[in-house]
Amino acid sequence: MTFLIAGGGIAGLGAALALSRAGRECTVFEQAPAFEEVGAGLQLGPNGVKALRALGAWEAVEPFCFAPPAIHIRDGITGNTLSRLALGPGFAARFGAPYRVIHRGDLLKALLSVAANAPNIALKTGRTVSGFSGSSLQFANGSAEPFTALIGADGIRSTIRQSLLADGPPRFAGQVICRALVPRMQMAGLEPDVTLWLCPGGHVVHYPVSGGKAMNMVAAFDGGWTSESWSQDATRDELMAAFPQACVDLRYILGIPENWRKWAGAARKAAPKWGAGNVTLMGDAAHPMLPYLAQGAVMALEDAATLGACIARQTQTDKALRQYEALRQPRTARVAAASGGLARIYHASGLMKFTRDALLRRTPNRLMLSRLDRLYVWNLRHD
Ligand SMILES: Cc1cc2nc3c(=O)[nH]c(=O)nc-3n(C[C@H](O)[C@H](O)[C@H](O)COP(=O)(O)OP(=O)(O)OC[C@H]3O[C@@H](n4cnc5c(N)ncnc54)[C@H](O)[C@@H]3O)c2cc1C
Repeated sequence: MTFLIAGGGIAGLGAALALSRAGRECTVFEQAPAFEEVGAGLQLGPNGVKALRALGAWEAVEPFCFAPPAIHIRDGITGNTLSRLALGPGFAARFGAPYRVIHRGDLLKALLSVAANAPNIALKTGRTVSGFSGSSLQFANGSAEPFTALIGADGIRSTIRQSLLADGPPRFAGQVICRALVPRMQMAGLEPDVTLWLCPGGHVVHYPVSGGKAMNMVAAFDGGWTSESWSQDATRDELMAAFPQACVDLRYILGIPENWRKWAGAARKAAPKWGAGNVTLMGDAAHPMLPYLAQGAVMALEDAATLGACIARQTQTDKALRQYEALRQPRTARVAAASGGLARIYHASGLMKFTRDALLRRTPNRLMLSRLDRLYVWNLRHD
């Protein structure tokens, strides 16, 4: 049984670990000349940590993580605190796993180290997939590989999705997302919380990554700029212009990084189907979402763990893939919709901002935590 995986990002490497643990052989085809350690910070909610445990990768990932003390939401105009939710032992006990943050490159590196030691995973770089036909995976250079099962984990512009669904490219969401990484010592005095600043038309998030050595910053704002690249240059002036009402503290923070990179936020409506026969989709290929709920990578990890559990328990591969899809489609559609909806709430002005701020200030942490149950109380299922 030859499982082929198109794409060696978080979903693709996660799928390889899941299949390996289920006793299956697989080959991952990644288009980049090396497994890409680019990107910025990713948040791993407790559901992400549980998925990594199920994939047998948590021990490798944990040393790269940083444990933020709290999620701190601040008004970007006044600097005032709107809400602060502690992420300590009580939080971890409630959800069965801790909240962690990590650099995307470190997460990939850790997944790769586990995959490289698995005897039944083959990793191939510099192989650009162009789609599939029948049971043949096709490559941009004209070559092909036969498969008995195929996982399309080739990201938001998935070629496997196009072969399966032919539903065109994702739509740009009118969001510009900038990221920067700064040595922590340049930001001495900045709290180690996951800090979220809300401004009219945009928001800023920062938290330490690389085990606490660097500060990850993300600034997202409403705008019509589009590009398919993950890594375009952005200027400090562009950032400052997007946050004209920012308070002194926030302007100071935005002014620290010398180099910003940006990408254009894109998403899709939930697809009615993800697969057919022995082919399925995973991660952004199946359910791209805006990163505002910080769940894109986590959903990919949950997908991978669920796929592994279904494959391990079901001898017929097509049935296992349909089980996996049935388990994952409703949850990922809900999370993607919620993440997209946050743009309006985070970037609100006027009456909507006033109402949002009042609700954030008045909501007790106990209620805040119970609202997070639906997202973070996730347990591996296969039936
Ligand atoms: C370069 C890069 C930087 C990113 N930076 C951030 C970030 O800073 N913050 C954030 O929240 N999210 C970032 N993301 C997105 C985030 O990693 C994903 O949303 C999430 O992890 C889901 O992972 P995925 O594996 O489904 O998709 P992706 O992470 O997009 O991985 C898809 C993989 O498939 C490969 N691929 C694509 N097309 C082909 C093809 N035709 N043939 C073979 N291989 C192919 C890609 O090179 C990539 O390695 C980034 C993604 C990429 C690719």
